[in-house]
Amino acid sequence: MRASELFVRTLREAPAEAEAPSHKLLVRAGYIRKIMAGVYALLPLGIRTLQRVQRIVEEEMNAAGAQEVRLPAVLPSEPWKQSGRWAAYGDEMFRLKDRSGRDLSLGPTHEEFFAEIVKGEFSSYRDLPVNLYQVQWKYRDELRPRGGVIRAREFLMKDAYTFDRDVDGLRVAYQNMVEAYKKVFTRCGLTFRMVEADPGLIGGDVNHEFMAPADVGEDLFVFCPNCDYAANVEAASTRRPEESPQDDPEALQLVHTPNRAGIQDVVELLGRPADEMLKCMLYDVGGTPTAVLVPGDREINESKLARVLAPAPVRMFTDNDFAAYGLPKGYVGPQSLPEEVTIVADHSVRARSNWVSGAGQPDYHATGVNAARDFTVDRWEDVSRVREGDPCPRCGSPLQVSRAIEVGHCFQLGTRYSVAMKATFVDEDGTEQPYVMGSYGIGVSRIIAAVAEQWNDDAGLKWPKVLAPFDAVVIPTNMDHQAVVDAAERLYGSLRKRGVDVVIDDRDASAGVKFADADLIGYPLQVVIGKRGIESGNVDLKARATGERTQAPLDAAPEAAIGILESVP
Ligand code: ATP
Ligand code: MG
Repeated sequence: MRASELFVRTLREAPAEAEAPSHKLLVRAGYIRKIMAGVYALLPLGIRTLQRVQRIVEEEMNAAGAQEVRLPAVLPSEPWKQSGRWAAYGDEMFRLKDRSGRDLSLGPTHEEFFAEIVKGEFSSYRDLPVNLYQVQWKYRDELRPRGGVIRAREFLMKDAYTFDRDVDGLRVAYQNMVEAYKKVFTRCGLTFRMVEADPGLIGGDVNHEFMAPADVGEDLFVFCPNCDYAANVEAASTRRPEESPQDDPEALQLVHTPNRAGIQDVVELLGRPADEMLKCMLYDVGGTPTAVLVPGDREINESKLARVLAPAPVRMFTDNDFAAYGLPKGYVGPQSLPEEVTIVADHSVRARSNWVSGAGQPDYHATGVNAARDFTVDRWEDVSRVREGDPCPRCGSPLQVSRAIEVGHCFQLGTRYSVAMKATFVDEDGTEQPYVMGSYGIGVSRIIAAVAEQWNDDAGLKWPKVLAPFDAVVIPTNMDHQAVVDAAERLYGSLRKRGVDVVIDDRDASAGVKFADADLIGYPLQVVIGKRGIESGNVDLKARATGERTQAPLDAAPEAAIGILESVP
């Protein structure tokens, strides 16, 4: 490919809205162009890299025994209505009507339709297991599209679905896909971690996310540096603390704390640390008022809380709720609650005594508040947000926290969709059984951004060679020097002959512009031919990922280039 013909114009400035380094670089280097919020065009460089990711995904899916199919992006509403997701999906689903007024959607995911497809073809336990996948554009009207292709409203996903006879079969299928996922992300050059994910409100749903650490990621996960425990913070737990000996309970006392409703305000006024304060948050749990207790320096994890209290819906108290129960917002403590309020305490509340909490009347707090003596905990639960340094639930080592981009998600669905869709098979004993399903997603277009986040520097992108749009660029530095141009053309020709996917930067531009563009676009190898090199009979080679520079004699340049390409990541 000739740079003079390549459909790309690099930009000096990134768009003002771009914050993520990958977003800035993919736009500046001419891989993607915005059409509207969360919707991007892929230019030649972008489509090449996307196709390379896609090929890796397809190869590993095929090797794992998954069969490729293609379901439509335009979908009828009836199966969604049957599963309940026509309503449950809410505004994230793009909906439209056809000319006869029939409800349609653009597929945000495809569980219902795979269940329908399999049900239509197979009907016996002898047909199972089945593993199908597609690489398909997905449509989600995301509340906050972000980071270019990281969170887009149209994005390329690989989604796979397994159908088994029983849960044991599902477990085998799941493990098989997990192994395939690890191969995909490793081959893409990603640093990643497989983490336990939020098991959802129904509970017990085994699912794992694949997280690529990146500062711009929207997910947080904890991991243990000592054992293999890793979990999304939404799902993470910590070791339960020892119960503190309550040998010296202080007397309950009121302190005047006018206009000090927040924990931090009281900490400042009383000069006591936040972990001596008892945070008492009120929720409406399916109509029952419920107080949730955590130490003042901790946060409640609302995903865990919702799971603990499921199936009742959990809603934080509004001002009206406080008024209805006659409770002073900001000054509530567990010892001052009416009988009807259920008290749920996080395990961390066991670790100390003599708490400071709201006194149950405006402008007052209480000190020397003790569980058992002053209030009764109805349920001890794990409802606090795990943070850096908390002990690992498995081995006790201090946990670490990392920000990450979710690149994949594996889910043991069970029979949720097959029951709803009446997708059944006839088992060996003649009974009708719902398929036991798994679903598995990879954000194919998101991977481009995740890799770009992990592989860049100030000058631009530094693709691992498996994902780079081209392997190498040949840069003649002086286009008005015929010997330079001739040597560059010869080298370009011989690299192409040897199967190197190479670009020659034959533009009438300065050497500085060509170097800057080569770094920005991220060709894994740059081969530079200049006037001085022609005189001395040498070319300069630079490996983009490592920055390593070498020289080679002009006539041995193709071999040197191929040697470097073999050795770079
Ligand atoms: P997220 O929590 O990031 O919204 P999700 O849980 O909604 O992700 P899944 O429904 O499990 O995602 O989709 C499978 C994969 O598709 C995700 O792991 C992610 O890599 C990718 N993905 C999801 N939403 C988007 C999006 N808006 N843009 C790009 N990729 C996405
Ligand atoms: Mg989502």
